[in-house]
Amino acid sequence: MISDLLSDSVRAAGLGALMRGAGLLTRFIPIPQPTLLVGPGSSARLGQAIAGFGHSKILIVTDSIISKLGLLQPLTDALTAGGAQFVVFDEITPDAPIPLIEQGIEFYKENGCDAIVAFGGGSSMDASKAIAVSVANPKPLRQLAGYLKGLRSPVKIYAVPTTAGTGSEVTVAAVISDPQTHKKLVIVDPRMVPKMAALDPSLMTGLPPHITAATGIDALTHAVEAFVGHWTTPYSDGMALSAVGLIFENLRTAYSDGKNLEAREKMALASTYAGFAFTRANVGYVHAIAHQFGGKYHTPHGLANAIMLPFVLKYSSPAITERLALLAVRAKVGTEDESSEVLAQKFLDAVDQLNQDLGIPTCLDALQEADIPALAKAACWEAHTGYPVPRYMSQEVCEGIIRQALPKAMTKAKPAERRKKAA
Ligand SMILES: [Zn+2]
Repeated sequence: MISDLLSDSVRAAGLGALMRGAGLLTRFIPIPQPTLLVGPGSSARLGQAIAGFGHSKILIVTDSIISKLGLLQPLTDALTAGGAQFVVFDEITPDAPIPLIEQGIEFYKENGCDAIVAFGGGSSMDASKAIAVSVANPKPLRQLAGYLKGLRSPVKIYAVPTTAGTGSEVTVAAVISDPQTHKKLVIVDPRMVPKMAALDPSLMTGLPPHITAATGIDALTHAVEAFVGHWTTPYSDGMALSAVGLIFENLRTAYSDGKNLEAREKMALASTYAGFAFTRANVGYVHAIAHQFGGKYHTPHGLANAIMLPFVLKYSSPAITERLALLAVRAKVGTEDESSEVLAQKFLDAVDQLNQDLGIPTCLDALQEADIPALAKAACWEAHTGYPVPRYMSQEVCEGIIRQALPKAMTKAKPAERRKKAA
């Protein structure tokens, strides 16, 4: 399941161009949405539905851990019962590299498949989207990177997310890695959005608490950044607020009582709603910085977001007081009769408290002072070329914000050094 955490669709360094392109694209064009099947056993119901669609053979794309845990079984039993043929490709690894996706493409063709079920975290979703575009448009994967590079519509994808965080089941992009250049390639095509998705909490009860926490805060970050940026719409606002409400009501329970199906289901819904919100309204500096941590230190995406969210929100707060106040009310940490300033502060405090309750550290152990200027430069570039950020940061300001995440031993050393110099 670690692989799930590592594979958010928009993770990793240098994705600013993607987000700009995806953002400009998705701001104005219609984006299809999957039909959602929700609740325990919905992966089996998805299998029943797919079996009725008359596909000749279905490719299930997943990773070996999910396969070994037997999580596919309700789906595959339903497919078998419905008379549908399927094959399983369970080789997906984090940040699926091109040769692996090419294997998946070959496997799909050899078996005469005509649809895909993406089953897992972001990596399996991304790999499935890349396979779906490539088999419909037979040219090298590298030539399919970019916006709508495939002429023909990708083959149909159905999705079963196994974490509650990335929202990949509703997003328009797939990120794959090119081991030759060590770069990420991004395929953007709204037609890759799955036709149906099953949000099945019974597949999520085994997620360890720290992954539940980090992926949950990733979803919170999607919702909050979408809500406080400049590209909001009534639709994205509604989705973001719903996600924030659900997360504050359920993430602690999903973390401390992983077998709680109701909390797991609500978190799965929250993640999907947050996905709808940021597909329209995009993200901001938290993601821009988190992507740099992912690229430089391989910090899990959700954890990187969780560490940076409080610092970035505090900085942005003067520009987004009214919005933070609305979030506070929705998170039920304040009431409408309080002033916006009071409510905004309550929301900032509530995010700190949530992180603390979920065991999220307040600093990033791997972070090095010497790396900060380059990290800030890359984060600003990413944000300023693509994200509708609510309060501009110069590189210097961004450096200061990243510096707040330095390991405490290092930040504590500073006053001591200063004292020494003074003495
Ligand atoms: Zn994210």
